[in-house]
Amino acid sequence: MDLGIAGKNAIVCAASKGLGKGCAVALARAGVTLVIAARGEDALERTARDIRDSTGVRVTAVVADVTTPEGRNRVLAECPAPDILVNNAGGPPPGDFRDWDRDDWIKALDANMIAPIEFIKRVVDGMIDRRFGRIVNITSSAVKAPIDVLGLSNGARSGLTGFVAGLSRQIAGANVTINNLLPGTMDTDRLTAFAEAASRRTGMAPADVIAQRLAGIPAKRAGTIEEFGAYCAFLCSVHGGFIVGQNLLIDGGAFPGAL
Ligand code: NAP
Repeated sequence: MDLGIAGKNAIVCAASKGLGKGCAVALARAGVTLVIAARGEDALERTARDIRDSTGVRVTAVVADVTTPEGRNRVLAECPAPDILVNNAGGPPPGDFRDWDRDDWIKALDANMIAPIEFIKRVVDGMIDRRFGRIVNITSSAVKAPIDVLGLSNGARSGLTGFVAGLSRQIAGANVTINNLLPGTMDTDRLTAFAEAASRRTGMAPADVIAQRLAGIPAKRAGTIEEFGAYCAFLCSVHGGFIVGQNLLIDGGAFPGAL
């Protein structure tokens, strides 16, 4: 399928690894010119080089913490008028809400609610003027089915979800869409980190922790960054214009609800 977005410009945040990288690769395969950001320079440059070599598109790597105003300014200086914006950042740590103070909450809100809203604020009016815009926020299946130990994530991402539900309907008439992609268990470094943390807590081997987790997923496996990226690229394509303000799970059937 021709996604119809060759030659468009995209910002993909937090894209040196994992789900952000999956989105960047899929957009590049569709011919999109990229600005990708992450904090660590080595992995970011490596990813940029790999994408350039494998697709031939122009990829600009910006070392930036997208949860800070300075980081966002650096990214937007390289691409002030994107046609496509993929918002992403690391998720907050697990824990017990009794241990979290105001600073912990502000950090989670900065990363998983305010950073995407600030990026949207800076680019959305240009998209409206140009009558094309696609914004995808990477959130979490925890928005639909909150995970007890991820209270910071549940709270901050729910704030973003509510905001997007309102804004997306105000701008859809200009062919500018905002949707949220909700990963379940995906095969990224995060899964390994989760298994190692659980192993330290329980004494179970990391491989057994992962096997137990995957056994509970109807698809009996973790999702791949390629699957995630393809879904994102479709939402960003010319064919995605009628998908507005949705929270789209990609979780191998783990969420048990009918709707
Ligand atoms: P990952 O494999 O650990 O990759 C995270 C990427 O984000 C790296 O490129 C990292 O590079 C970059 N990054 C992190 N914080 C950043 C920041 N402040 N500014 C710029 N770049 C930043 O993680 P992932 O599994 O792809 O997860 C992506 C998002 O999806 C997270 O918010 C996560 O909580 C959420 N999620 C993931 C899953 C899953 O199963 N994987 C499930 C539900 C939700 P640097 O560290 O070098 O900056």
